[in-house]
Amino acid sequence: MTASLALVSSLSSVVPFRAPYAPDDTALVRDLLPRAAFSPEADARIDAEAGQLIAAIRAEAGSLGVEEFLREFSLSTREGLALMVLAEALLRVPDATTADKLIEDKLTEAQFDTHERVSDAWLVSASAWAMGVTARVLRPDDTPLGVLGAAMKRLGRPTVRAAAGQAMKVMGHQFVLGQTIDAAIARAGTKQAKGYRHSYDMLGEGARTRDDADKHFAAYVMALTHIGKAAGNTGALPARPGMSVKLSAIHPKYEATNQDAVMADLVPKMLELCHLAKAFDLNLTIDAEEADRLELSLDIFAASLADPALKGWDGYGIAIQAYQKRALGVVNWVGEVAESLDRRLMVRLVKGAYWDTEIKRAQERGLADYPLFTRKAATDLSYLACARRLMQLRPRIYPQFASHNALSVAFVRELGRENWSDSDPGFEFQKLHGMGDALYRPIVEADGYPCRIYAPAGNHRDLLAYLVRRLLENGANSSFVATVGNLDIPVEDLLTRPAKILSDGARARNTRIPLPLDLFGGVRKNSRGIELGCAAERAALTATLAEFAADRHVAAPVIDGKTPSGAERSVISPVDGSTVVGSVVEATSDMAVQAMERAAAAFPAWDRTPVAVRAAALDRLADALDDNRERLMALLAAEAGKTQGDGLAEVREAVDFCRYYAVEARRQFAEARRMPGPTGEENRFRLRGRGVFVCISPWNFPLAIFIGQVVAALAAGNTVVAKPAGSVPLVAALAVRLAHQAGIPVGALQFTPGSVGSALVAHPAVAGVAFTGSTETARIINRTLAAKDGPIVPLIAETGGINAMIVDATALPEQVADDVVMSAFRSAGQRCSALRLLFLQEDVADSILKMICGAAKELVLGDPRHLATDIGPVIDGAAKARLDAYVAEARASGRVLFEGPLPDGVLAAGTWVAPTVIVL
Ligand code: FAD
Repeated sequence: MTASLALVSSLSSVVPFRAPYAPDDTALVRDLLPRAAFSPEADARIDAEAGQLIAAIRAEAGSLGVEEFLREFSLSTREGLALMVLAEALLRVPDATTADKLIEDKLTEAQFDTHERVSDAWLVSASAWAMGVTARVLRPDDTPLGVLGAAMKRLGRPTVRAAAGQAMKVMGHQFVLGQTIDAAIARAGTKQAKGYRHSYDMLGEGARTRDDADKHFAAYVMALTHIGKAAGNTGALPARPGMSVKLSAIHPKYEATNQDAVMADLVPKMLELCHLAKAFDLNLTIDAEEADRLELSLDIFAASLADPALKGWDGYGIAIQAYQKRALGVVNWVGEVAESLDRRLMVRLVKGAYWDTEIKRAQERGLADYPLFTRKAATDLSYLACARRLMQLRPRIYPQFASHNALSVAFVRELGRENWSDSDPGFEFQKLHGMGDALYRPIVEADGYPCRIYAPAGNHRDLLAYLVRRLLENGANSSFVATVGNLDIPVEDLLTRPAKILSDGARARNTRIPLPLDLFGGVRKNSRGIELGCAAERAALTATLAEFAADRHVAAPVIDGKTPSGAERSVISPVDGSTVVGSVVEATSDMAVQAMERAAAAFPAWDRTPVAVRAAALDRLADALDDNRERLMALLAAEAGKTQGDGLAEVREAVDFCRYYAVEARRQFAEARRMPGPTGEENRFRLRGRGVFVCISPWNFPLAIFIGQVVAALAAGNTVVAKPAGSVPLVAALAVRLAHQAGIPVGALQFTPGSVGSALVAHPAVAGVAFTGSTETARIINRTLAAKDGPIVPLIAETGGINAMIVDATALPEQVADDVVMSAFRSAGQRCSALRLLFLQEDVADSILKMICGAAKELVLGDPRHLATDIGPVIDGAAKARLDAYVAEARASGRVLFEGPLPDGVLAAGTWVAPTVIVL
């Protein structure tokens, strides 16, 4: 432990990489343009060279293997999609019945039988043949699907299954060098003889459990040893082979919010790998992963690199993604680190995988902008600027250019000529195993440029995720591999320069991809999020939360804006069972009656208020909630035990509710609608409020559901008497204060914390009830309302239930584990949508349960104000007692499969319930 801390602290000798997460595209592109410019003579050489390479690729059209295959089954075709889903799932399905069902399901959607005629390429033919056979068996021409069973009988399901499985294996063999590292090393020999180098990659998904992380790490150690031994003493770096490492594979919770634990664990692990790689004089490269892990990965890289014992080894490397707006900054930083530590490093420049996922993620998180470029040409430009900088950083940096794009490759060759006169170019190209053969054959075998092959090794089960990544990436219509194979696209089009496509910066941004905050178009603004992968944002959040940590809050009835006095009760935090978060004065039945009367008196004026004014007040409330985001998050943590992630999501949901109902109010209430008038009369239909709405909210979303009910009723012109759950009056009181400040009249929103639900519901003025809570209470409210004379009073009730998930063998276990852990245990399992019941197909149950329990074990229960905390306490002692009793009963009958640890020390008195898996 001491050693690892010392190593982590050595990071202080290097200035960590920190940069704005998502700067503006236009400014960036304008900065990059001159860095990526060439003279007209150089441009002409690039055209000629890229043209020749494209011709070489196209000359092999029809026998292109994997590229042809990817184009043929691109994701814009039903076959491509069906194939991807099949490839993703088929090989891991252990039982015949599920495999048959999956094949039937996917192949009846697609037209594989027509594909076998399209191309002569062997891979396309092989797969299309297998698929075509299968498809025809399943869906004979001119035969309705109803006879599918008969056809299956004729050829037999096992034949069909075998054909489909074989097709997947054919594809697997293309992309994977060997099923073991030794098989991969042996197969690499042929290419090595032709001048290629290798970087081996041990296939596998990111680890979810410590066991998996340890297994992956052991596999890396074993692989390095075998690669090193096989390499013997021949040659010297950079010509020697190497290995690529995914940090997510060797830590079960490789997340930026978990930075301290990750550093303490991964820096020593990386050092062990580095020392081994150094001993064998191999290249060891850290693969580039998600944008929100960039800073963390660079911290680990720098901390391990700083070990003085690694001096003299030139094989440590890192991959940099050009699609990230921070790419050039990272290149410069790596150059500075190498200089300051006096090391020589290897840097692989890629454009970046999973672009679509990153875009979606930024939208979902409500970021101010994207961390990636949104136009492919901007990525190409960034690649070029980074490439030129890397060339300038030689020999301190050994650049490794990974691309299957002939134009990018021609650019790099020109850059290589610019400032290197030696016979050794001082850099290498990189390609993926099974791809880019036609492109690199002339470059490597004729012109003698070095090229390293990224060579995955692993069994078929583990290849699936990798295969899908390749299908996604190369099946996209913007991909060079997809376009070069389309002979209808003229060569000149493929040679168009990024600067031209980007109109010299004027079209830097893809206007068809709205900014995350503009996701809902002109309709409403998306709620603002925080990127917790960015250290600066984490630090700012922690500092702001600290400002509110000592706040003491008060909740009291607010009737026509006035606060009647009464006895105070302390609100104690569930986190430690002792901290006083604030105090509440609970409303009496008389106060409840008064609040109803005042709300009834205020109704006509609020209902007559133009909808534009009402909606504007809701919009102002949205902004006020957003402005008070951290104050609300701090209070949600203290009063309800919400973690920061949950608190942020809750504030965002509350903001979204306000904006959503404002939009709907304007849409539905602004104008009277014309009704049909068959006899010539004019009929107009106008929506208006009903009267006083009683809003009764639960403790599990004390802000979002509370405010959602209130603003929905207010938007429609009703006045509201709001009653929060007894355990969480403080956050509701703060929301009501903000609502009044935002311009919602005090008469229109009355606030009555306390046990006054029945008094409110029974009042004659009630015109509607919005309730979220238990089914039992909903029934009582329903009966109370039904017993009343007068107009029928609507009840909008959202009640609890048992949520179940059904998982069969086609599901990716890692995805199942993520979803189960998120749904069942995050938010302390207290969401209305929390998973309670999991049904697993028996054939895969044991392994999936093992992964779920392993992942649950990694969850940190603790102070919800800390960013590293995953789970806070349950809401109160009563909830804990109920859950504890249930677990005790299961324990007594030996049905508890897993129980996580509980926090101790100062938190021990909080209301904690550990994640628990019980077999039913
Ligand atoms: P091109 O067709 O020229 O480029 C495709 C790329 O452009 C896409 O992948 C994407 O990055 C980008 N792009 C596409 N559409 C847009 C858009 N609208 N806006 C902005 N950008 C867009 N990837 C990693 O993430 N980490 C790694 O560690 C890694 N290692 C690799 C190692 C090797 C040897 C190779 C060959 C690839 C590796 N990759 C890695 C994958 C690599 O990122 C992709 O193969 C690469 O992006 C494809 O680029 P290209 O130049 O071959 O093709």
